[in-house]
Amino acid sequence: MHPVWLLDLDNTLHDASAVVFPRINRAMTDFVIERLGMPEQQANELRQFYWQRYGATMLGLVRHHAIDAHDFLRATHRFPDIHRLVRRDQRLVHALRRLPGRKVVVTNAPASYARAVIKALGIGAFLEDVISIEAMHFAGRFQPKPSRPMLRRLAARLRVPSSRCVLVEDSLENLRSAHRVGMRTVHVTGVASGAGKVARKPRSGSDRRVGLQVQSVTHLPRRRPRSVNRNP
Ligand SMILES: [Mg+2]
Repeated sequence: MHPVWLLDLDNTLHDASAVVFPRINRAMTDFVIERLGMPEQQANELRQFYWQRYGATMLGLVRHHAIDAHDFLRATHRFPDIHRLVRRDQRLVHALRRLPGRKVVVTNAPASYARAVIKALGIGAFLEDVISIEAMHFAGRFQPKPSRPMLRRLAARLRVPSSRCVLVEDSLENLRSAHRVGMRTVHVTGVASGAGKVARKPRSGSDRRVGLQVQSVTHLPRRRPRSVNRNP
């Protein structure tokens, strides 16, 4: 049976590290300066602190400063020029067209941004759904990746056991969570600029919680990665 591919977006399907992430970080710092009345250095440190502590700056701002999540997401993901920053990649288009199984994008980014990136990449036709951070709100709060309850709910929503799902990601922390809930995992190592050197040698076995390493989604196997992390 074909797997259900859960595809991360930024630094997995495209390189966000060169322009997109620096702009989002800048916008987040500006947001904190303006809303919390902080000097720039303090705002920058707070942004990074919440990112490290919660996995998303937004969670800290919502929890500790009563910031409206949707306000924050809108203000920090303004990319009217996204089609110039993210280009259609014909190899990616072919790879997703050929890849058997359902494909769902799962991203901690907001829906409007995710849809714009997917459109610019020209891959919307191959995707069953796009799960954005807005859809990761339950039990009264946002629970984005690497939340294990969220991953379990996601498999249930897709009506498949976790073991049928393969999370394809650049973030090891997110992959470890997926492994803990019984999903297969693929670590994408070569998409972000400057990651190529790390990716050249596959380090299979260096982290047993990661099932497979590939440089790019264009190198995904057609079948489920071997069951190194399959739950009995
Ligand atoms: Mg990513």
